[in-house]
This record gives sequence, C-alpha cells and structure tokens, in this order.
Amino acid sequence: MVYDKNNIFAKILRDEVEAEKVYENEHVLCFKDIYPKSKIHVLVIPKKEYSDIYDFSKNSTNKEKESIFLAFESLIKIYNIEISGCRIITNHGVDGRQEVPHLHFHLLAGNDVGRMINN
Ligand code: 5GP
Repeated sequence: MVYDKNNIFAKILRDEVEAEKVYENEHVLCFKDIYPKSKIHVLVIPKKEYSDIYDFSKNSTNKEKESIFLAFESLIKIYNIEISGCRIITNHGVDGRQEVPHLHFHLLAGNDVGRMINN
C-alpha cells in the first residue's frame, strides 16, 4: 500500500492540523481522538509513515516497535488506569474498517468500554 501523505494524521504530524497532544517520544505521538468513544480516547501513532499494522510490523525498526509500548506504558501512568484498565485496538484494511491510512492504536479507558464485538 502506498502511503498517502495527505491523510489527516500526516497533517497533524506536520503541525498543519491541530491536535490535543498528551504524550510523545522520539518515535511516537499520542493525541486525543476528536470524536471520543469513551471518557479517555487517545490515538497512538508512529511518527514515521506507516500505513497500517502490517506495514509497521514488516518495516519498522525494533526501536520504533519498542517506542509504541513505551507510549502505552506512559499513557497508562498518565491517566492512572493501571487498575481500572483500558482497551487498545488497531483497525486494518477493509474488514478492520481502518479509516485513516496512517497506523494508529486507539486507547480507550475511563469507563467500561463494553463488549469488544456486539453480536
Ligand atoms: P480508524 O477508524 O481509522 O481506526 O480511526 C480513525 C480515528 O481518527 C477515529 O476514531 C476518528 O474519530 C479519528 N479522527 C479523524 N479525524 C481526526 C482529526 O482530525 N483529529 C483527531 N484528533 N482525530 C481524528
């Protein structure tokens, strides 16, 4: 999949579009989802251009992979949700219904986020 440099998260990374940033490290940016699906809804994205989880899994460095997990650790501390918990998901492709073609993980927390699949 060819990376689309005009996607909204690429614009956020270039500071062309505003976002409410909550954490960043060398390889990762975290900001609030504009249409939150729970009290806490943060998007975790790599700073480099990766379209989806497959692209990232195949092509990212170990440091970039590690940085994603360091971001999860930091967010869990920042929001003090070690005990109450959270859900972290990523959507990929048509069946996963990924809308923005830059890899992102949704961190949902702050309330019971419900069953994972409603059927
Ligand atoms: P997806 O369906 O691709 O997994 O999720 C895309 C997410 O990006 C959605 O939850 C949507 O609310 C969020 N989103 C879309 N446009 C913007 C934006 O301009 N700013 C922010 N902060 N989030 C956005």
